[in-house]
Amino acid sequence: MPELPEVESVRAGLARHLTGRRVADVEILDPRPLRRQDGGPEAFAQALRGRVITGAARRGKFLWLPLDDGRALSAHLGMSGQLLVRGTAAPAAAAAPGAPLSPPGESPPDLTATRAPSLVRDLSSHPRHLRIRLLLAPRPGDSPGGAALDLVDQRMLGGMRVTELVPTLDGAPGGQGSPEPLVPADAAHIARDLLDPALDWAAAVARARSSRRAIKTVLLDQGIISGIGNIYADEGLWHGGVHGSRRTCALSRQAVERVLRATGGVMERALAVGGTSFDALYVDAEGAPGYFARSLAVYGRAGRECRRCGATLRSEVIGGRSHTSCPRCQRRARDARMTRAGRPL
Ligand SMILES: [Zn+2]
Repeated sequence: MPELPEVESVRAGLARHLTGRRVADVEILDPRPLRRQDGGPEAFAQALRGRVITGAARRGKFLWLPLDDGRALSAHLGMSGQLLVRGTAAPAAAAAPGAPLSPPGESPPDLTATRAPSLVRDLSSHPRHLRIRLLLAPRPGDSPGGAALDLVDQRMLGGMRVTELVPTLDGAPGGQGSPEPLVPADAAHIARDLLDPALDWAAAVARARSSRRAIKTVLLDQGIISGIGNIYADEGLWHGGVHGSRRTCALSRQAVERVLRATGGVMERALAVGGTSFDALYVDAEGAPGYFARSLAVYGRAGRECRRCGATLRSEVIGGRSHTSCPRCQRRARDARMTRAGRPL
């Protein structure tokens, strides 16, 4: 599952390659990703033909492309979905619209270092698992075969739809890459993520602490804080010194904020090197994970030594998800035994 830094790399690439581009036509090779489109595949194609893509925006792991008619193309990439830009001229990274998310003083993520999106120059092929292709109106610099945005999805868990934008509840910008205070209607329930300048930290900590569930489970709840997946939850808990089985309501405000700040910090560092690329789909032939994975402290390291204290890292299941932790650096409460659903026994 791509995590927030991977999705942000994708968003930045889409913004660079698609902003200002007009959709000339839509090819639907498989209608299944459009199952949530009002009006079905024909309405999807009709809503996009002739429209100009005005940017690329993201909240948590949810992506959308605002359109010039005030609506948006929203994309759920699921476990295996990828948006691939093909045949466009590659503008300089310095010309990227929207503020880069990288920490000041660091260069923006190098998209050539990521596995997604693959910025392929050749439109001649229909890749395996190609479901939807948006053909872009030609522009000087495009490859001779033309330019397109492809939805490629092996497992068919992702989808796309053209949807209305609705005002954000707090009046702040919709997300990274969206200066407008608007989000797609189907993203309105998604909380702001840890890299969002408009995140209200005190409210987020309070929201988390109102839950009796394990903090590991709460970190993964996109309605409390969005964008955290299994990798960054485990990393943030290790950096924050809290075991994932602790009931969030039993932790101090300081401890919860420490874990959230640490999780955000890990995601920022991963973003600076183009994401973790840890998903099996993105692992290369030797099984070598992405660049950032080499600096992970706990995720994928059960049975190995803690980088801080040398104790052997352990893995267990909390709320149906694996949790790797250090028995010495991460304190667990005496009453912290959990059911598989992440609730205290
Ligand atoms: Zn340790």
